[in-house]
Order: sequence, then structure tokens, then C-alpha cells
Amino acid sequence: MATEEWRQQWIEAVAKIRSDVSYNESAQQLRRLQQTGLLKLTDLKYNPAKFFEAHRLLARHAPNLGPGFWIRFTVHYNLFAGSVLAVGNEDQVKQLDDIQQKGLLGCFGLTEKLAGVNSGGVVNTIAEWDDQTQEFVLTSHEVGAQKNWISQGLVGELGVVVADLRVAGKRCGAHAFLMELRTANGPVPNVEFGDMGRKTVGNDLDNAWIAFHGARVPRHTLLSRYGEVQPGNGGSYVSRVKGLTNMAMIGQRLFSGRVAVAWAAITFTRKLFEMTREYSDRKKCWVPKNSNLTQVPQLQHLYTRAEETLQKLEAFVASCEKQLSDCLQKDEIPSVALQEAIASAKILASETSIDLCFRLKQDVGSHALMGDTGFEQMDFLQACKFAEGDSRILMQKLARDRVRLTSPLGSSEEQQLTKELQEAMKGGAKAWDANFEKVYDLAWLVVQRNVASMCPGTSVRLPCGLSKL
Ligand SMILES: Cc1cc2nc3c(=O)[nH]c(=O)nc-3n(C[C@H](O)[C@H](O)[C@H](O)COP(=O)(O)OP(=O)(O)OC[C@H]3O[C@@H](n4cnc5c(N)ncnc54)[C@H](O)[C@@H]3O)c2cc1C
Repeated sequence: MATEEWRQQWIEAVAKIRSDVSYNESAQQLRRLQQTGLLKLTDLKYNPAKFFEAHRLLARHAPNLGPGFWIRFTVHYNLFAGSVLAVGNEDQVKQLDDIQQKGLLGCFGLTEKLAGVNSGGVVNTIAEWDDQTQEFVLTSHEVGAQKNWISQGLVGELGVVVADLRVAGKRCGAHAFLMELRTANGPVPNVEFGDMGRKTVGNDLDNAWIAFHGARVPRHTLLSRYGEVQPGNGGSYVSRVKGLTNMAMIGQRLFSGRVAVAWAAITFTRKLFEMTREYSDRKKCWVPKNSNLTQVPQLQHLYTRAEETLQKLEAFVASCEKQLSDCLQKDEIPSVALQEAIASAKILASETSIDLCFRLKQDVGSHALMGDTGFEQMDFLQACKFAEGDSRILMQKLARDRVRLTSPLGSSEEQQLTKELQEAMKGGAKAWDANFEKVYDLAWLVVQRNVASMCPGTSVRLPCGLSKL
């Protein structure tokens, strides 16, 4: 299908999505959307341009729909199906076509109550191999190990669940399991589901906590492209590709997720500015005579600045997307430099969007208090801030990686700050938190360097949310 024809069909399909519905109806909308076959669950790998464009076109509706459906969509296509693509064996990847045709939905269970934003690094859900029955037994031994915030967790028939694998008493690290969570008769045995409760926005999306009480899943549920369990004598873990762990490969989904989220934040902001501009162009002002609200100096300046800023962000994120798409199609792991650029793009796009939309809200007057203006959905950006890597956690990682480098890199300011933090760290690990302002300052310099290196001549302003307290 020609790209333009596909685009039109996708635009028409997503224009029908509604958010003033129950989470069950919202889930039905996604089932129908995937059954159109317009976007395949495998497009992330074989047609990443379509995958990202589909996300962008859906995000155009976010100021009207809020974050619920967009999150449901990206969890299913990127986190759930994307994880199967990344760490599933051939047979497991083949299942995606069947899942799509039947309109089944999947969730992605990574986050845990105790681990929060550090989930993935910390995984306390245990999957113990039972050699006799050739099953894995999933258990959350304490409340902190229960899965938390799992989107689509109350409706999805399937889930990619991340758990720490134990074989014959040995820890094999975090692994993902493609498991059934619900059948026509309801939830599978020994898995307990709870509703996270009402959110500020996005209540058309179900978010669940999930507790495993010795849930048994067969051997073939382990997504086993990089490692599997051989039965016999208690069982043994066999790594298929040296040097590559399943968890590192699941982490790959975070890169496509970060690019999609960066686009979502930018697209939301563009649309909110467009909607507000339509209003302020129409709104007559008493002074100066025959003018409208758009002519008010601070608002006019904000519109100009937002346009310039959004163009810069779009160029930067587009570069990241292009390079990442090459890697996805070639089945390659992105270089460290690209991983750093993607983290920078995610931080910059979400924080700058929050900044711009907040300023717009402050300067457009009472309009910002009205329903259906898009302002009531601004927490969409809050979700962008922590989805697929929270801004602060990504900044900590950028700074840590920079401090580990001993060779000179970046501006003299970056080198000086790096030196100061390297010196401080000689006093012990506590120095990191004690110097948190320097840590975030350094991370911001790394973000700026990445923008300048991908888009020469481009400079960006520090968003309010990242400025000092
Ligand atoms: C609507 C929604 C949908 C979601 N969907 C899914 C899903 O489908 N699957 C899934 O697995 N997860 C999902 N999540 C979870 C999400 O990705 C985050 O992991 C989760 O929201 C963490 O939130 P928390 O408040 O528990 O974090 P906490 O760990 O309590 O962190 C709170 C704040 O403290 C800061 N912080 C914490 N630790 C540190 C540190 N060491 N250094 C500096 N700052 C720190 C962070 O900046 C953060 O803002 C979803 C969350 C939401 C809200």
C-alpha cells in the first residue's frame, strides 16, 4: 500500500477513537484497530517508519483524548509485541500474527511496587524452574515485588512478564515470559489483579497491580531467543548468544519507546499550541484597538519561541528515529552514542513540552480553565516524563556514564564539572547524592552536546522543570 494511502486510512481509523468510554470499551477499540491490519505488530522491526508515524498521528488527538488510548496503544505495539520481537524465538514471533488476527491484547509487566522507576535494574518477582513438571513458578514473595501500574493489565489476555529466573537454585537474572493472563473463563489461577484506582487523566486506560502466588507457566513461555532452560537433573540454563542477556535485549524496547514518547510530547505540544492559537486569534481585545489576544506581547513571543523550539526538537528526534530505524531493520544494537542521544531526546522533548505548555496555560487567561481546550489533558506530558525512563533517572545515567569517561569530551564547562564530580566521588558513593545539583547540571550539558552533535548549530534552553530548586 502506498504510504499516503496508508496514512489516510490510519488517520481515518484513529479519528474514530474515543476516550469518554470505560476501559473495556477502550480496549475493544484497540482490538478493532489492530484487526484492521493497518499497523502490524511486527512493523516495529520491518517498517519502523510506519510504526513511528502511527504513534505520531495518534498523538495528534492527545489534547482531546488524553493519554489513555495512546499509552494502551504503545504498550501493546512497542512494549508487549516489541519485546516478543526482541527476545522471542522464531515460533514466539510467529504468534504475533495470530494474536493480531484474533484481536488479543497484551500488557507488559516490568514495574514493581518497591523498584518504581528503577524497575528492570531491580526485579523481585521470582520465576523458579520446576524440573519435574517442566514449568516455571512465578511468585511475588512480598508486596514490594508485586507488579505495579501495568497498563492494560485488567483486560489483556496476554502479558510479557519480567521475572528473575532461578534454575536449580541458581540466579539467572531477569527474563521475560509470554504468558496467558486471562481466558474466556477469567483470570488464570494464582494470579491476582487489582485496579490502581482513579487517575487525574487517562481513566479510559486500566492500570493494574498484579501479584503472582505460585502461578505455573509452561517451558515454552520463556522468551528464549538468547537463552533457554534445558530440562533434566534439576534443569540448566543455556545462553544462546554469548555476551547478550535477555534483559539487555528487552531494554532495546525502551529505545523505540523513548523515541515514540519524545514524538508524543512534541506532537501534543504542537497541537495544544495550534488549538490555543485558533482561540487567541478569534478573541478580541479591548486594547490595543482592533487587536486580538494573539497580539499580546508575551503570548506573541511565546508562539514564536514555541515554533522555533518545536522545529529544533523535531529535527533532533527525527535524526534519532532515522538512526534507530536503521538498527531495528538490521537487527543491530544501537551504538552507545545513539543510546545517549535517544535518552537526551526523551528528556529534552518531554521537559521542554511541559515548560512550553505550562507557560501557554499561564498566559492565555481563563480559556485554560475550560474543558475541551486540551489544557485539562496536560498530564499527558506528565506520563511522557516518566514513561520508558524517567527524566531524572535518565539524567543520572547520562551523568554517571560521563563521569566514568576519563578522556576529555565536550565543552570546558562539561570537562570541569566532570572533574569536580570525579574528585568528589573519591570520598565515596554518598558524594553522588550530596552533589546532585552538579550531577543534573552535567547531565544537561551532555543533553546539549548531543543536540549540537546531531543538529550542528542548534542550541536549546534549560526547561523550567530541570532548573535548580
Ligand atoms: C499511566 C501509567 C502507565 C504505566 N504503564 C506501565 C506498563 O504498562 N508497564 C510497566 O511495567 N510500567 C508501567 N508504568 C510504570 C512507569 O513506567 C514507572 O515505572 C512508574 O510510574 C514509576 O513510578 P513511581 O512513582 O513508583 O516511581 P518512584 O520510584 O517512586 O519514583 C518517584 C520519583 O522519584 C524520583 N526517583 C526515584 N528514584 C530515584 C533515584 N534513585 N534518583 C533520583 N530520582 C529518583 C523519580 O524521578 C520519580 O519521579 C506506568 C505508569 C503510569 C503512571
